[in-house]
This record gives sequence, structure tokens and C-alpha cells, in this order.
Amino acid sequence: MASNRIVKQAVVIGAGMSGLTAAGALAERFDQVVVLERDTLPSEPTYRAGTPQDRHVHALLVSGLRALSELFPGFEQDLARAGAVPLRVGLDFRVEQPGYDPFPQRDLGWFTYAVSRPTIERTVRRRVEIRANTTLRQGCRVPEAWESPNGEAVTGVRYENGNGTSETIAADLVVDASGRGTPTLAMLKSIGGPLPAETAIGIDLRYATCVFAIPDDASTDWKGVRTLGSPQIRRGGLMLPLEGNRWMVTIGGRQGDGPPGDAEGFLNYARSLRTQTIYNAIRQAKRLDGVARYGFPESARRHFERLDVFPRGLLPIGDAICRFNPVYGQGMSVAALEACLLGRLLQRLGDEGDLIASLAPTFFTEVQTLLETPWSVATLDFAFPDTRGQRPADFETTLKFGIALNQLAAEDPAVHKLTLEVQHLLKPRSVYRDPALLQRVLEKMADA
Ligand SMILES: Cc1cc2nc3c(=O)[nH]c(=O)nc-3n(C[C@H](O)[C@H](O)[C@H](O)COP(=O)(O)OP(=O)(O)OC[C@H]3O[C@@H](n4cnc5c(N)ncnc54)[C@H](O)[C@@H]3O)c2cc1C
Repeated sequence: MASNRIVKQAVVIGAGMSGLTAAGALAERFDQVVVLERDTLPSEPTYRAGTPQDRHVHALLVSGLRALSELFPGFEQDLARAGAVPLRVGLDFRVEQPGYDPFPQRDLGWFTYAVSRPTIERTVRRRVEIRANTTLRQGCRVPEAWESPNGEAVTGVRYENGNGTSETIAADLVVDASGRGTPTLAMLKSIGGPLPAETAIGIDLRYATCVFAIPDDASTDWKGVRTLGSPQIRRGGLMLPLEGNRWMVTIGGRQGDGPPGDAEGFLNYARSLRTQTIYNAIRQAKRLDGVARYGFPESARRHFERLDVFPRGLLPIGDAICRFNPVYGQGMSVAALEACLLGRLLQRLGDEGDLIASLAPTFFTEVQTLLETPWSVATLDFAFPDTRGQRPADFETTLKFGIALNQLAAEDPAVHKLTLEVQHLLKPRSVYRDPALLQRVLEKMADA
């Protein structure tokens, strides 16, 4: 691999899913990769303060599993060895939605794994740690007032180490995978540059999660359940198996209608969902943990692609660019797909001159195609009238199209497979423009 390297140092801020996957891509092309993480990273797969979302259900889409396997060959086997539960997409997962309780369950030929977020992250982290040219520095926080000595280019990062001492590390490329993107925004402010415009979809989601031991008499018809709400009962739930014969159950609602933080309140909220599947599964099950809660105000997309100038040597990635309503389970998979894109660009641009200068503008342009489908999924939140933000034009037609397509998917396994390929980000949403499919959907819409 040495001949592929461009003999430079890359620094990644944050050892979450986007930081670790980016480090995997960078290690192929950079001499040295240093990851700075503010948390102390646990050796066991346990929750940590820097990623409070890790206490909640994290679904891994098929595209995410494949992207992780592309970055870290053999990743799937690692995950299976860590106890992840294989899930046949379409068959092992019961989806309940108005009109379909449940939606037809079919084996569509592919699978993913259900596993806790800490175990996914630790499995990726182990692959990053064993790379000879990659170093993970824990307890190292990049402060908010971060700036570069030269406003036009980032040449290094100052950070506070575990002793509270400030250090500086030189870098030809700094990848901001801090989730919030605060280092990038602080850098832009420090040079007096404009901040990226932001598109937000306000949902004020409130979540609560509990982990249970899977009882011996649990249903064998499904391994996981998703219960969607209706216009009348706007609460939903997601239950997936975890390593160690456990279920993780996340339930919640929009516009602040979240579950209480005590066990009895959690069960009562589960009973208030549109169907009783989740409640019946957990009501006698042994609870293994307390109730963890989380608030997610909005999906948000930062338009770095619209900035005329951007500091050379800086690249935000993952949630720092775009974060999605977690209900759709897209964030980790998009992070891994972005890292694959980064790897391809490093390969391609490395042969074409000033790689560092062209990297961020090219990435910002090309990532738009990648974000299009997951962002269009997030815009479905406008189906709820109290969602904040700019409703896309002609959204009523989009909704009617979705209902008709769903009817076809229930009837026809080929259409079902196609819709799941789009949901799992294996195919773009544009596949729905296929003339033959379009004709069938339009006929359904006309019938309705
Ligand atoms: C409640 C909830 C549920 C979710 N469910 C799913 C799901 O089902 N499926 C899915 O794919 N995605 C899900 N997501 C999204 C997913 O967690 C993220 O999109 C994904 O992990 C990528 O995030 P990231 O790595 O960009 O940022 P983060 O996960 O936020 O990681 C950022 C890292 O940077 C570190 N850091 C931050 N600032 C600094 C600093 N200044 N200096 C040094 N280190 C720093 C943090 O400690 C952390 O380790 C969910 C999110 C939430 C909130």
C-alpha cells in the first residue's frame, strides 16, 4: 500500500462512526492518521458521554453494513463474532403501519445485523486501532475557540489533552467528525467567513429506551418490530434484538410528546402505541437497565457546497454536514458511505495535482448525490402538519405517490424489494421514475 500514500498527516476530530470510518479511508492514502477524541474510550462496548445517542436503538442499514465491509474487509464476520443478530430484511422484521398490521413479511434475499451502537463502534474502532499508521488519542478535546494561524488554510489543530495541557498537532488535512461540527463553524467564524446556510426539518422528537432480557416464550414470527403511528395516535416504537439475548426498545413521539423517565411510565407509554405488539412482548420481560431519554429537535443539512470559499485542508463529514431524524436509522450508514466517497476521491484526486485544495469542494459537490435519498426520506416528516420548516413543493402528490407505492409493495414482492432497496440506501429514490413502475403507481393513485 505504501506506493498509494501521499506522505502526509491527516487529523480527525472525533472517534464516532464518521471519524472512525473516515480514518479507515484516510489510512489508505496518508502516511499518518491521528484521531483526537475528547472521551476516554471504553475497552468494553459500553455507553459513553460523547455519544449520548448510543443508549438508543441503532439500526444498521444494508448499505451501511456493505460500506463498513468495503472499508474494513471482514467487518461482517467481526460483527457476527461480537454477537450481532442476523436479520433477514423483509422477513425477520415486523413493520406495523396503518392499514398493514403487519406489512407482508418476505425473504428478499439479503440481511443485516442487529447490534448495540457501542458494539458496532467498538468493532470499527478495533479495526482502526490495529492499523500501523493510525493513532487514536483519547481524552483530547479540540476547544471551541479553534483557529488556524493562516485564515485561508488549516495547517494543524490545537487541542487539550487529558492533563488539561494545550498541544498543537500539524496536519495537511483536518477532518471534522465531531458530530456538531463546532470546530468547522468556529474556524469559519475566526476567519470572518460566512457560515453555511442550513435547511432544517423541526420535529422535536422525544425518545426513551429500555433494554430487556428476551423471554423464552418470545415470538418466533419476528426478531424485531417497528410500530408506526397514525394521525390520531402519533407515537411509535422500534424494538430490535441485541447481542447477549436482549431486546432494546425505543419508543417516542413528536412535538415533545415523549415517554416519562420511569419504568412504569415507560410501559404505560408502550401500551399507548397504536398496536400492542411491543407492549405484549415486554410487559413480563425482565428489564435490565434504567430508562434512558433523548431529545432530537430537528434534521439539519448544512450547505457547505454553496460557500464560495472554504479553508484549504479542512473537511467536515458525517453529522457535521447532515443529520437525520433517527427514526429512519440512516446516520451511521450515511457516515460509512461518506467515508467510502472520501476514499474514492483521495484515490482519484491524488493523481490530478493539488489533492488537498480540491478535496473539500469536490467532496461537497459529490456528497449531494449521496445525501439526496436519505434527505428525501427525512422530508417525509412534513406529513405531520406541525413539522417546522419549508415543505417541499407539491408535497401532497409526494405523499399520495408514497401511499400508492406502498400498496403496490404490499401486493408485489418485486416492488417490495425495490422500496426496501431505497430505504436501505442501496438504490437512489430516482428508481421510482422507471416508466413501467410509474405507470402502475399512477393507476393506483387514480383508483384511490
Ligand atoms: C437518538 C438517536 C438515535 C439514532 N439512531 C440511529 C440508527 O438507528 N441508525 C443510524 O444509522 N444512526 C442513528 N443515529 C445517528 C447516528 O448516531 C449518527 O448519525 C452517526 O453516529 C454519525 O455521527 P458522527 O460520528 O458524525 O457524530 P457523533 O456520533 O456525534 O460522534 C462525534 C464524536 O466526536 C467527539 N467530539 C465531539 N466534539 C469533539 C471535540 N471538540 N474534540 C474531540 N472530540 C470531539 C464525540 O465525543 C464523539 O465521539 C441516531 C442518532 C440519535 C441522536
